[in-house]
Amino acid sequence: MRLATCLFAAAIALNSLASPVNEAGKPAADDQIDAAEKAPLSPAAAAGHWNDPFVPFKIIGNVYYVGTSHIGAFLVVTNAGHFLLDGALPQSAPQVRANIRALGFDIHDVKYILCSHAHFDHVGGVAALHRASGAKIISGARDRDALESGRVDYGPSADAPFPAVRVDQVVNDDDTLTLGGATMTAHSTPGHTKGCTSWTVPVTGSDGAHHTVLFHCSPTVGGQSLVPEAFPGIINDFRTTFAKVRTLRADVLLGSHAEFFDLVGKRARQTAGDPNAFVDAVALQNLNTDMERQFNEELARQRKPLI
Ligand code: ZN
Repeated sequence: MRLATCLFAAAIALNSLASPVNEAGKPAADDQIDAAEKAPLSPAAAAGHWNDPFVPFKIIGNVYYVGTSHIGAFLVVTNAGHFLLDGALPQSAPQVRANIRALGFDIHDVKYILCSHAHFDHVGGVAALHRASGAKIISGARDRDALESGRVDYGPSADAPFPAVRVDQVVNDDDTLTLGGATMTAHSTPGHTKGCTSWTVPVTGSDGAHHTVLFHCSPTVGGQSLVPEAFPGIINDFRTTFAKVRTLRADVLLGSHAEFFDLVGKRARQTAGDPNAFVDAVALQNLNTDMERQFNEELARQRKPLI
């Protein structure tokens, strides 16, 4: 099944959480966070093994994998504290905490939690991880409302709420965050959500070579309506994103879903002895080309008049 189709199927199989959304738009209370963490997985997440564990490991330089077998979460460590990118599902939060601990790091040293986009399978665990760490929560400016209300209000994921959080700081294109000499640069890549944000950070490999890591928010349509537009400007947002990514240079592609960057295959090559298994000069552009083609096919399909 194509990735975009897969994600759509997953998204329309609604999350079975008791609604953790606070009607007043305030962050989820402790009991809401606990309930979300213990709730059964949605049928799609269960069938797709989204929350299966994955042994945490160093990807390259100061970048570590702390996500599940299918949903990306990453730790960028510095001597002045750490960045955590995404929190995966609400039910993933215990795994992410345990993964950070297993790697020898302390969640209290996480200073920033960066949200790629406001869908339940990527920010569902953020409320619990924020509670555990006290870290500042960062998101793309146009995703703030969704994070603070606990759901997007467009597309299939509108029916998949997650524990709401208070966003401490929003970012726009080319904004940066620095900790201990590591500078994360935000790249606005809207379409999958309004505020979908990718990040890059320079790293140094074990051989002393310099690389650029890109954490891709998501380039898929994700079952959203393009005709009519799920939100005003979604078609232009996707086109802007594909053009933007063509200008980005990164030789280590990571992302919000393991399938975007072949987590399993690259980790197997790394385990077999290749310290640069995740270095791939063409992966980002290949993904971008493939996803732009899928977007154009989906747009053409939706524009075709029903007979
Ligand atoms: Zn998503």
